[in-house]
Amino acid sequence: MTLVPLPAFADNYIWMLQDGRNAIVVDPGDAKPVFDALERGNLQLAAILVTHHHADHTGGVAALHEATGAPVFGPARERIPEPCARLSHGDHAEVLGLRFDVIDVPGHTAGHIAYFLPADPRNAAAGDLAPLVFCGDTLFSGGCGRLFEGTPAQMLASLDALAALPGKTRVCCTHEYTLANLRFARAVEPGNADLAQYMMQSEALRARGESTLPSQLSTERLINPFLRSREATVSRAVHAHAGLSAQAAETEVFAALRQWKNDFR
Ligand SMILES: [Zn+2]
Ligand SMILES: [Zn+2]
Repeated sequence: MTLVPLPAFADNYIWMLQDGRNAIVVDPGDAKPVFDALERGNLQLAAILVTHHHADHTGGVAALHEATGAPVFGPARERIPEPCARLSHGDHAEVLGLRFDVIDVPGHTAGHIAYFLPADPRNAAAGDLAPLVFCGDTLFSGGCGRLFEGTPAQMLASLDALAALPGKTRVCCTHEYTLANLRFARAVEPGNADLAQYMMQSEALRARGESTLPSQLSTERLINPFLRSREATVSRAVHAHAGLSAQAAETEVFAALRQWKNDFR
């Protein structure tokens, strides 16, 4: 199987997993890039996975479903075009011989879910692509989604759940926000050598017009301030920036870090 990000809009990726005959797409905000890729590869659409209700993730769902009949999987608690198999934590999406674990990751939206494909003999069809996670707008490379509907405590718990996946998990985020995120990360942790190295690597990829994604979870743990808000370096920087008291709870530190990023130029 191969995994490709289909660019859409200004900075979205519609992830496509395909085996040469059939394809799965994730968060098709626009149907056109998917129809084009299906035609180019002479592929049948086997399933549509949706992480959350935002239009840039769902805008192409109805047209793709109508044209191909591909089943739609989506979050149990959000408005997704029908018909849609509604999934929440502990459920599985089974398609093309693959079994995705559904993880609830509220924060960006209230019912946001992620799809984790474990490296497991059951998922042998994925070859060395597993483990991988489709995390929508929850975890970005070097950053995390904005809190539109959830609380900082929810987002922190969601990121903790993603951070607990195996280190070699490929992180398939929906937006190419990496360089902007890394500029912020450097302001938070100017002495982080892994971050400096990753930034150079990401800048080189973008200079060649290539995607920085998927990222690898073990790298995110070393460079992403939103997975590192309990690390002394990050926590100290947030305390100093936001003027938090020494007793601030970890959710307050995380909330202040997210606010700092919202205001960062
Ligand atoms: Zn979103
Ligand atoms: Zn989005």
